[in-house]
Amino acid sequence: MKQVKVRLYVEHPLGPGQSVPLIQAQAHYLFGVMRLAVGDPVALFNGRDGEFRAEVAEAGKRKGALTCIEQTRPLQMPPDLWLCFAPIKKARTDFIVEKAAEMGAARIQPMQTEFTNSERIRRDRLQAHAVEAAEQCGGTFVPEVAELQKLDRLLADWPKDRQIMFCDEALVGMAQTLGAAGGDKWAILIGPEGGFSPRERDRLHAMENAHPVSLGPRILRADTAAVAAMALWQQALGDWT
Ligand code: SAM
Repeated sequence: MKQVKVRLYVEHPLGPGQSVPLIQAQAHYLFGVMRLAVGDPVALFNGRDGEFRAEVAEAGKRKGALTCIEQTRPLQMPPDLWLCFAPIKKARTDFIVEKAAEMGAARIQPMQTEFTNSERIRRDRLQAHAVEAAEQCGGTFVPEVAELQKLDRLLADWPKDRQIMFCDEALVGMAQTLGAAGGDKWAILIGPEGGFSPRERDRLHAMENAHPVSLGPRILRADTAAVAAMALWQQALGDWT
């Protein structure tokens, strides 16, 4: 059996015998860049049906089709963890989305806080980064990147059954408090370069389901903090144990 060299995300439903048409960019990647030919294997996933071994059925410069052979892995959902972060510079925001997808976030929620520098995001571009990260890390699920929301709005509608791991830079150097709280729905909150405003901090400290957490004795950059917080959460409450 030929070795699978390419893992590809598609939106099409997957199932044994299912034909999957390729869009131009996918055909270019498979046949122009990766030089696959008819009969070559591809690993396919769509975030819903698990992973399938497929074969190239038609290969053209601008289009093509694959045929699903058999399921090789079932869908594996991550824990119900949201990563809520304030967008920073473009490359660093891309990094946060990529790492969140790799580390097992179920949803990625950009949020605008009082000290957030950027007021807009390119949601489609960030979603493409999450897809690429899932392709690369072997994930069968792709977290949704939500539209930018104001933190105030987010907290006003906050679901009562979702705990918050509030990464509060004001607690630098204090012991971590994560772990005592239960619950299986969580969100990590990471502030922008300027940190949370005093008003936002007071509001979060007053919320019963918000658990203020320190990430150690040094102030971390927001992108580093996002990765550190996800690692801490996954180790304490997620699917790394
Ligand atoms: N300008 C802020 C200051 O000097 O206090 C620092 C903000 S930090 C660059 C960005 C975000 O990362 C913070 O809002 C917080 O969510 C998180 N963070 C960074 N270091 C942290 C730490 N040691 N403990 C908890 N959260 C931290």
